[in-house]
Amino acid sequence: MDSRNDTFYESSGKRTILIADDELINREILGSILEDEYQIVFAADGAEALETVSGQSTTISLVLLDLMMPKIPGIEVLKRMKEDPATKGIPVIVVTADQEAEIECLHLGAIDFISKPYPQAGVVQARVRRTIELSEDRETIRITECDPLTGLYNRDFFYRYAEQFDQRSRDVPMDAIVLDVNHFRLINERYGKARADEILRRIGGQLRETIRALGGISCRREADTFLVYCPHGCDYQEIMDKASAGLDSAGGSRVRLRMGVYENADKSLDIERRFDRAKSASDTVRNSFAKPIGFYDFKLHEQELFAEQLIEDFPAAIREEQFEVYYQPKYDIRPDTPVLCSAEALVRWKHPKLGLIRPGVFIPLFEENGLIQQLDHYVWRKTAAQIRRWKDRLGLLLPVSVNVSRIDMYDPRLTEYFRKIMEEHQLTCDEFRLEITESAYTQDSNQIIDVVNLLREIGFRIEMDDFGTGYSSLNMISSLPIDVLKLDMQFIRDAFRDGKDTRLIEVIIDIADYLNVPVIAEGVETEEQLLALKAMGCDMVQGYYFSKPVPADEFERFMLERLQQK
Ligand code: C2E
Ligand code: MG
Ligand code: MG
Repeated sequence: MDSRNDTFYESSGKRTILIADDELINREILGSILEDEYQIVFAADGAEALETVSGQSTTISLVLLDLMMPKIPGIEVLKRMKEDPATKGIPVIVVTADQEAEIECLHLGAIDFISKPYPQAGVVQARVRRTIELSEDRETIRITECDPLTGLYNRDFFYRYAEQFDQRSRDVPMDAIVLDVNHFRLINERYGKARADEILRRIGGQLRETIRALGGISCRREADTFLVYCPHGCDYQEIMDKASAGLDSAGGSRVRLRMGVYENADKSLDIERRFDRAKSASDTVRNSFAKPIGFYDFKLHEQELFAEQLIEDFPAAIREEQFEVYYQPKYDIRPDTPVLCSAEALVRWKHPKLGLIRPGVFIPLFEENGLIQQLDHYVWRKTAAQIRRWKDRLGLLLPVSVNVSRIDMYDPRLTEYFRKIMEEHQLTCDEFRLEITESAYTQDSNQIIDVVNLLREIGFRIEMDDFGTGYSSLNMISSLPIDVLKLDMQFIRDAFRDGKDTRLIEVIIDIADYLNVPVIAEGVETEEQLLALKAMGCDMVQGYYFSKPVPADEFERFMLERLQQK
């Protein structure tokens, strides 16, 4: 026994031991041997023993059990204790003169024996002590191995076991599989944490049984993400069906899983990497009800390599200023002739080998790994410098808005950073506006709303971007701190497809009216759309109808036109 254990063992108070024996003299002898070190409770027959052990299952550290007892014999007590989940972890030392019974007791889960007549006091004390220590160590290991919610392995142990498995069975082809719950965040919000936990527990239990039968292992990696490592060749649909059995009724709507499979995983890759691949495959079928299982294939592999290259090239791109800010005009359409009223700064990457890359390709990637912050700082500075230049040269005050990623909102220095930019370029908050996408608000509402409130207190104007895609509840919208609502371009697309139906747009314009903020419609491409929006009471428009995003010098054309209008 090492001394560290010793100290821990002694420092954590007196353990409780149950001595179950029908003979008073035996109870007294054992009691006197152990009472200095332990709290002792006694039972004089089997029924009393069971009652005590289940009543104090969390506090009893050990049971010393006589086999020959009235009412319920010791063997039966042992059996029932091991059947009851609450008491089965409590170690039992059987005290008996009957050596024949030892094997049966071992089968039933007894951990050790003390013979009658009793050995020396020191021997009894040492055995009791050792048994409690062993059992507590085992419990600690069990807890650190397992996810407390589902009882599945936790991530670290899972990865370690998977690696051990590989070492033993190098030639067995294995699949790395990821399972996620579609819309889990919504389930959490709508039905509450308790219900969501119940769903995860159920999936965990069903998955464990299914995967164990297939000779594999499973774990919960985090939140609603489960991992499975099992021999190649199993029926994926069957795993899905079994894991999600009985989940049909979260408040009436169906809880659905999605799965990503990396078949025949390459064992020369790091184990985490293999599951990242399965996760990428799972992301390709996010919320797709028709096709809930995605596979890691050549196309995904190519995408992954491309993404890796972009990440690798990023530092040089910042250093060499390969990123260029384009500007897209926004027009006020309330007057008879539309008037240029502001612009949006949109970044492009002029990659020396890959040519012009649109932000839709690299922004989501950089949001995943945090590089977005560095990129956004770069774009904000370039934009601020440009506004300053236009102001000085053309004397026109034209507000420009920059995009602020959800990730930026977690930076405690964000407000300070903006303040510095304003100061360095001598700009007012009205000239430099901020666009924050609606989904940021809905993902971590309180944190984001606090930051937005801070920014507004400084004087910044906040435009809510892509409105309609983030699923804000009506309740939430009315308390959101925003100054402008930007209608997502998908609404325009849908409304003007075949059989024009603009009712949704009208509803959103009504919401904006109610909130008393102007609406900007994004993605307006035709005159028909422009006129319809104007008739519905939309205030501003941004889209190809007026112009695509263009480089700064080209954008000056719009400013000069505007100056002439004055
Ligand atoms: P967004 O902020 O919603 O920007 C509007 C997007 O719609 C731009 O795409 C713009 O080019 C496009 N667009 C505007 N009018 C039309 C139209 O009439 N038809 C069509 N089909 N598209 C139109 P872009 O520039 O590719 O940017 C995509 C998204 O990338 C942006 O969406 C924004 O979320 C993000 N983004 C762009 N620049 C930055 C940046 O500097 N920082 C951050 N964090 N995100 C950025
Ligand atoms: Mg935007
Ligand atoms: Mg937008």
